[in-house]
Amino acid sequence: MGKVSIALRGWRFDEEEVFTEEGELRSIDEVSPDTRDRLVRLSVVAGQPCSACWLIHGDEDIQECNVARVVYGEPLHEVILCNDHEPDFLYWYQEAGGSQYRGEAETFEEAFQEWFADGNRAPEGYEGMQHVETDPDSVPQPDAEVEQDTLEEAIAELDDEERQALETDFGDLDI
Ligand SMILES: [Zn+2]
Repeated sequence: MGKVSIALRGWRFDEEEVFTEEGELRSIDEVSPDTRDRLVRLSVVAGQPCSACWLIHGDEDIQECNVARVVYGEPLHEVILCNDHEPDFLYWYQEAGGSQYRGEAETFEEAFQEWFADGNRAPEGYEGMQHVETDPDSVPQPDAEVEQDTLEEAIAELDDEERQALETDFGDLDI
């Protein structure tokens, strides 16, 4: 079964769980709760500034921030990163103790932000373990990106309460 990313790299979904045979995104109530949470959060964080850029520039210079391209962590405690800052995150995770926070969503997010805000960075040229496609041929075509509209349509089917719970504004992070 193929794995796909939607909107941002990082989180991976079982292709058969999220897409119909026609390549349409399934209705949000046909997928598992975890998948649903991730899809909803993707619709919120896609197009948001990179967490690391934001730590540098803040809201005052928000236009200096790159748009995030990759998402790590857990729903509501995502670390979203631009391509420039992904190596810093990978370094933190693999070489600077970040992996010990795996499974502790909130601490995970905070620990990376603290580490980065303290001025820590990956060494020049560090690439770390990139997401390796073990079997590129099996990755199906809808892979790249689902139209944001499709995702938003699916999200719109959730009831308001569920949706609000998942739309906590990323900009409110207290660092
Ligand atoms: Zn960045």
